Amino acid sequence: MHKAKQKIINPANGEVIAEVSVNDADGVAQAIKRARLAFEQGLWPRISLPERKNFLLKIAQGILEHAQELARLETLNTGKPIKESTFMDVPSAAETFKYFAENLENFLQPETRRISSEIACAEGNLLPEPIGVTALIVPWNYPLLIASWKLAQSLAAGNTVILKPASLTPLSALELVRITQGAGIPDGVVNIIIGSGASVGEALCADINLDLISFTGSNEVGKKIIGYTTKNVKKLIMELGGKSASIILEDADLEAAVNGSLCSIFLNQGQMCTAMSRIFIAEDIYDAFIDSFVERAQRLKLGPGEDFQTQMGPLISAEQRKKVISCVEKAKKEGAKVLCGGKIPDAPELKKGFFFAPTVLAGVSKEMTIFKEEIFGPVVCVNKFSTLEEAIDLANASEFALAACIWTKDEAQAKELASKINAGTIWINTYGMFFNELSYGGFKQSGFGKELGRVGFLEYTRLKNIVVDKTKESKPLVNYWYGF
Ligand code: NAP
Repeated sequence: MHKAKQKIINPANGEVIAEVSVNDADGVAQAIKRARLAFEQGLWPRISLPERKNFLLKIAQGILEHAQELARLETLNTGKPIKESTFMDVPSAAETFKYFAENLENFLQPETRRISSEIACAEGNLLPEPIGVTALIVPWNYPLLIASWKLAQSLAAGNTVILKPASLTPLSALELVRITQGAGIPDGVVNIIIGSGASVGEALCADINLDLISFTGSNEVGKKIIGYTTKNVKKLIMELGGKSASIILEDADLEAAVNGSLCSIFLNQGQMCTAMSRIFIAEDIYDAFIDSFVERAQRLKLGPGEDFQTQMGPLISAEQRKKVISCVEKAKKEGAKVLCGGKIPDAPELKKGFFFAPTVLAGVSKEMTIFKEEIFGPVVCVNKFSTLEEAIDLANASEFALAACIWTKDEAQAKELASKINAGTIWINTYGMFFNELSYGGFKQSGFGKELGRVGFLEYTRLKNIVVDKTKESKPLVNYWYGF
């Protein structure tokens, strides 16, 4: 039987760069079956931890050996500047496999507890085990890196996997799966599903043979997935959207705050879950900050991602650009003032791609749609505040709670402020510092569960509790409960 094909587009010029075969619901069922069999009967969950470690190190090595090709593919497929894919996405992906390889033995150590009371004594062994068959559903903004986070953690925990990349950006995930095969991961352990979420999502997420779904994507799709899973019981990790806030205090290093804030909204064309799409500036430095920020935003060099000089590539698709334009138009109607951008750039060489100019909007109030909804594009709202209480109130006036930034020279004050900000990650005088050691995840409508670090890794396990009776003279309470 012929599999349907899907064209993959370079968003910098609209050209077709590849064609991939697409799975249907039957393909999903087959993949789950393979993964289940590999989990129940295969070697992967049963090999020694040092052996598991070596497989993961080989994957890390494989990524580094294919680094140039992976970076090129990621840039062609997503449009992100090659500087980002070369120096961030690809090396970080390799580093994640290495980190979990080197730490899995430590993270999987059982914990022993002795319990002793008047009537009962026991020894408890708390044992992290592989959870089973895991579905890893990945968005299009960091296709290789997010797939690598999930795959590294799930494999390190001893699970089998069904990886579902976004249908717009499957190329680096397909290459990653080939790398796992090259590393000798046994058959059936890593499976990949190509297909739109709308066509295969329910078949994948509702299957009773799945033990965990680790999803990164929009709030809207996250809620759909939660709905599918009510047909049976499984564990969920939900990394959803954001509407993050950056607070620039009066004593901030202005140069650092301006440059850091540019990165915090225009990196990856603003298509970041943690994009600081709301910036609040102390009123005394508002004009100085805005003059410099807007002037530099206008100077960002737009172009195809393959060019090392490019600082901002195209948006991922024509549809995504349409969505961004409609958000900006609505904001204008609701009273926002465009300080720069707000339109498709005029340069003729950008016409074929899905480019959008870096956009700064002022005069945005809490009630306006653009203040509340995630845009996922290079669009930022700026506002001034006069007191710390006002800054906190503005920052927390969101249904999302993923990340925040604070810029100040006063670290103690920043930490005090951080304790009052509703967000899963708070960066002080920096932006976007993700570390394999530090667990990451949002609150409120930004989701639940963590990725990375020991806490994130343990999300991919189940905890077994083994209790041994240690009552003196071997007479456990249950032995004489009925008086026999
Ligand atoms: P999306 O539309 O929610 O898609 C994410 C993934 O879910 C894709 O693989 C998508 O497949 C799949 N999907 C879509 N409909 C589905 C369904 N009914 N059932 C199962 N799977 C389904 O998100 P996106 O547009 O790719 O990415 C942008 C969003 O991701 C933003 O909201 C952003 O904030 C969020 N994000 C969050 C984090 C975080 O760590 N919190 C990180 C990065 C991105 P198709 O592409 O094939 O439809």
